[in-house]
Amino acid sequence: MAGDAAARLRDLPSVDQVLKTPEALTALAAFGHAQTAAAVRGALAVAREAVRAGAPAPDAEGVAATAAATLAAGARSTQRPVFNLTGTVLHTNLGRALLAEAAVEAAVEAMRSPVSLEFDLATGQRGERDDHLRGLLRELTGAEDATVVNNNAAAVLLVLNTLGQGRQSIISRGELIEIGGAFRMPDIMARAGTALREIGTTNRTHPKDYAAALGPESGLILKVHTSNYRIAGFTAEVTARELAPLARKHGVPLVHDLGSGTLADLASIGLAHEPTVREAVAEGADLVTFSGDKLLGGPQAGFIVGRAELVAAINRNPMKRALRVDKIRLAALEATLRLYRDPARLAERLPTLRQLARKAEEIEAQARRILPAVETALGGLAAVEVRACASQIGSGALPLETLPSAALAFVPSGDSGRALSALAAALRELPVPVIGRIADGALLLDLRCLEDEAGFLASLAALDTGDHGLA
Ligand SMILES: *Cc1c(COP(=O)(O)O)cnc(C)c1O
Repeated sequence: MAGDAAARLRDLPSVDQVLKTPEALTALAAFGHAQTAAAVRGALAVAREAVRAGAPAPDAEGVAATAAATLAAGARSTQRPVFNLTGTVLHTNLGRALLAEAAVEAAVEAMRSPVSLEFDLATGQRGERDDHLRGLLRELTGAEDATVVNNNAAAVLLVLNTLGQGRQSIISRGELIEIGGAFRMPDIMARAGTALREIGTTNRTHPKDYAAALGPESGLILKVHTSNYRIAGFTAEVTARELAPLARKHGVPLVHDLGSGTLADLASIGLAHEPTVREAVAEGADLVTFSGDKLLGGPQAGFIVGRAELVAAINRNPMKRALRVDKIRLAALEATLRLYRDPARLAERLPTLRQLARKAEEIEAQARRILPAVETALGGLAAVEVRACASQIGSGALPLETLPSAALAFVPSGDSGRALSALAAALRELPVPVIGRIADGALLLDLRCLEDEAGFLASLAALDTGDHGLA
C-alpha cells in the first residue's frame, strides 16, 4: 500500500510542467507569475494529500484547472453589485442610496484628476474643503453655515463633543435611541465626553422637565427625531419649535438630530410628510444634523447646519479632522445637492426618490410583463405568481409608512421552509445575486427597485435548475 502511494506520488506533475499547460498560460497572462505559481503549488499540495489517501494522481491539466478555479474565485470582489428586491429601498446592508448619474460622474472625475479640494482658484491661496458645499447647503436649508463629516453618527458625536464636553446634554427619555450598528445615544454621549441628563419618561416629556434640567452645567439640549420607531398612546413630546425659545432664554444651544432628514417635500412624490431640514432650521434649532445617504439620496455623509459661530466652533474641534470626507464624496455630494435646485426633475434624477415614487400599478405591470421570462428561467423549480406587497423606505425614515408595491412570488415545489431558503441561496449565487425576502410561504421579489430588467433576466437565466437540493 505504502509503496503504491509512493509510486503514484511520483506520477504527480511538477510545478513547471503544470505552468506549461494551456490553462496555466491563460492564468499566467491574467494573474501574473507569483499568484499563478502559488495557486499551482497549492493545488499540488491538495493533490498530494489526496494521493496519500488513495486517490489517483491528477495530470498537469487537472492541476492547472484546479489552480485556475482558485484564482478565478479569489479575483472576484467580495463587495459585489446585487439586485435589491427586498422591498426596502434604503437598505443599510445593501449600501443605502444609489447615486444620481451626475454624482457618479463627478466622483469618477475627482478620482481621476487632481482637484481644487482645498485650493482657491481665484486667489491661488489655500482654500477650504467645506467651501464646496457651504453655499449650496445654506441655499437649500436656510441655515447660516454648514459643514460635513463622515456620516450622521460622526456629526452627532462631533456636535456633542464640541458643545457638551464636560457639561450636560439634556435629552428626553423618549428619544434615547438605538439605530443599529451599535449607535446608542447614551454610549455616544459617554464617548463624546458629555454627561447624559435624561429627563421626562419614555412616553411623556413636558416643557417643565426641560426647564427644570437647564442650569449652569447645561451644554446643549438634544432633540432626536425618533426615526425608527414611534411611541403611540398616552404620550407627550416637546417639539423643537417649543424648545427653541426655552433654549434661547437659557443661552443653551438646541441641537436637532433629524436622522434621515430630507431637503425635498416628500408629499410632492406622494409620501407622508417627513420634516425637511429647512423646516427644522426655521423652527429655531441652533444646529441640525442629518445623513447624506438616506432620503437625501447621496453618498454616505453627515451634515451639520446652523448658526455660524457654532459651526465655527465645530470646525475648530481637532476631532473634525478625523471625521472629514474625501474629495470623491465631496464631488458626489456637491453634484447631488445641485439637483435639488430643480425640484421638478428631482424624482427623475435621484434614484432613491425615483424608486420611492413608483406607483403600485406600474410595478405590477412590470411584474406581469417579465413573468413569462422568469417562469422560463426557473424551469419549474418554483411556481411564480404576481402578488401585491408593501415596500418600506428603510434606514429609519417614515418607519410606519409602507408603499403599496408588487412582487414576483416564488413558491417552490417542495413546500418546506428548507426549500425556500435553498431557493433564496441559489438566487444569492447568481452572477449578479438577487436578494428578495421570505414571507407568507414564498420568496418575494419586490420589483420596486428593479430598473435593469434585462440584466435581471440574464442573471436569472444562469440559475442551475438541475440542482435538486432546491426541490
Ligand atoms: C440614521 C440615523 C443616525 C445615523 O446616521 P448615519 O448616517 O447612518 O451615521 C443618527 N440619528 C438618527 C436619528 C438616525 O436616524
